[in-house]
Amino acid sequence: MRFWPSDAPGPERVSYRDFPGSTVPRSPFGFLMMFVRHRFAANVAGLALSAMAAMGLMGLEPVALRHLVEVLEGLDPQRGPDGAWPATLAPWLAALGGLWMASALFNRIYEWVDAHTSPRLRSAVQAYLFSYLMEHAPQYFHDNFAGRLGQKIKQAPESAMTLMSIAVHDMTRIWVILGIALGLLASSHLGFALLLLGWTALFLYTSVLFSRRCVILSRKLSDDMSAVSGRLVDSITNADLVRSFVGLVRERTLLAETLSSERNSSQSLRTFLILMRFMQYNATLLFQIILVGMAVNEAVAGRMRPGDFVMVFSLSNLVATNVWNLSNRLLDWFEHLGTLTEAIELIIRPHAIVDPPGARTLEVGEGAVEIEDLCFVHADGTPVFESLRLAIAGGEKVALVGPSGAGKSTLIRLLLRHYEPQGGSIRIDGQDIAGVTLDSLNHAIAEVPQVPGLFHRPIGENITYARPGASEEDLWSAASRADCHDFIMRRPAGYDTVVGERGVRLSGGERQRVAIARAFLKDAPILILDEATSSLDSETEHMIQQSLWRLMEGRTVIAVAHRLSTITGMDRVFYMEAGRIVEEGSHAALLRRNGPYARLWNRQVGGFLP
Ligand code: ATP
Repeated sequence: MRFWPSDAPGPERVSYRDFPGSTVPRSPFGFLMMFVRHRFAANVAGLALSAMAAMGLMGLEPVALRHLVEVLEGLDPQRGPDGAWPATLAPWLAALGGLWMASALFNRIYEWVDAHTSPRLRSAVQAYLFSYLMEHAPQYFHDNFAGRLGQKIKQAPESAMTLMSIAVHDMTRIWVILGIALGLLASSHLGFALLLLGWTALFLYTSVLFSRRCVILSRKLSDDMSAVSGRLVDSITNADLVRSFVGLVRERTLLAETLSSERNSSQSLRTFLILMRFMQYNATLLFQIILVGMAVNEAVAGRMRPGDFVMVFSLSNLVATNVWNLSNRLLDWFEHLGTLTEAIELIIRPHAIVDPPGARTLEVGEGAVEIEDLCFVHADGTPVFESLRLAIAGGEKVALVGPSGAGKSTLIRLLLRHYEPQGGSIRIDGQDIAGVTLDSLNHAIAEVPQVPGLFHRPIGENITYARPGASEEDLWSAASRADCHDFIMRRPAGYDTVVGERGVRLSGGERQRVAIARAFLKDAPILILDEATSSLDSETEHMIQQSLWRLMEGRTVIAVAHRLSTITGMDRVFYMEAGRIVEEGSHAALLRRNGPYARLWNRQVGGFLP
């Protein structure tokens, strides 16, 4: 049985921490340049050089043509039909053929380098974004659809690849051909060169003006496309809810609204691009007409030879074709620029909860927890704790009870540092959790929540997630102590049984037992039980309670419970109301006090005190 992936190196293992610099670039070009500088400098240089070489060689074609025409022009018109090809033609024919072949060769070299660059770039960008995303605080994942985040991580690398290809291939070619054309035209006639220069400046200026509007339209389209995926994923994940409330028509209506917004944005962008390309086409055509007109004028006036005319004509063709090709790729450019910008803005936000500078490793001995003057208000302004104080001795087992909204789960989240308090401190064995590394804090605490998270992977892998590399004996021992070994072995695939998304192929009780086995394997000194058995029937709850008592042995335990029958054996009970501890003591002591805890207990046991 092997549940752990091999340590294969490659772009797939890239983490955002592997890149130097304290801040992550938040502009698409900064982001791309970071990869180019630190990972793909040689590849991109190879791509750019081969694209430049291929274009440069093509740019010399008009020169060879000019010489060929000059040779043809000088031939004797009285030559007979048997006339062999004059030797003077050979060098220019050879040059022309050589240019074509060499240009084609550099194009193939470009493709070869690209085949070894783009897939690596795609993997590296995905791995980078994933590593950054996963370090966001839990609140971030509550605020953003998982489907949307996954989609962004898939889309961003495609966009990065397209942008890089347009920048390195199409744009490089344009600069090369403009440079060559400018040089050749200047050598032939200064007026032609000035025309090309003026036209290029005007063309670039208007293209930049157009592109601003394009960026706005493409961002809107990208937003709308994300809204559609968010809506789709929300409906699909709640397919059972939709069916049971006969809500398909409502879901379709909601989807139709977002789809229509996406359609409108797409139409606006495409219409604008058609207009833009129409203008660009006309501008290019005008340039060609003026240039050829000027050349004809020069030829008629006897200031230009046919060879030069052919060169000017084919140069104008080359410039026009390449400009036109680039404008055809502008739709891709702006769509992908919008997509990459949106992905970066969504994922590369500052992490809300990070290790403080100089964070130490949390050293846990007994596992005592002290909470002092804790103040906490949720991000939306909901106040929960004003000045909470609480002390739990090492190895003590306490329960947090109280009405809904009292702040029990929030307190647990604060202990796990899912949220940062606005004031006060939480200390474990005297060390403020705000000053220790998040990893060491997470190592010290095991949690069995009401709905345990499970990966769509084998059960064995789900359990050993708590301790990578655990032996088979450790796995079986943890599973046996959590009462799940038998039900796992009854499955045909045993520990290799794949549990389905979020563990849907297991019953609620089985899922809970897998979570307990995982906590056994983690063997953390502090254990949190957050309504661990509240979704189970009484009989299953009773059985799981036995496993839980075994798990609690020798650990500090904080249990949140609504069903008070599950916590009567705890050392102390804290009764909370509106963020305050109203009562504390053992179950028996609180019953004797006859306060709010006793009233809650009475209601749960049907009005009879034991
Ligand atoms: P229950 O027993 O129903 O789970 P609880 O005692 O665990 O309740 P909490 O979940 O801690 O209560 O909630 C305390 C208060 O904080 C409630 O008023 C709740 O509405 C609010 N709250 C909880 N989570 C958030 C959040 N992410 N953003 C804003 N307010 C929140």
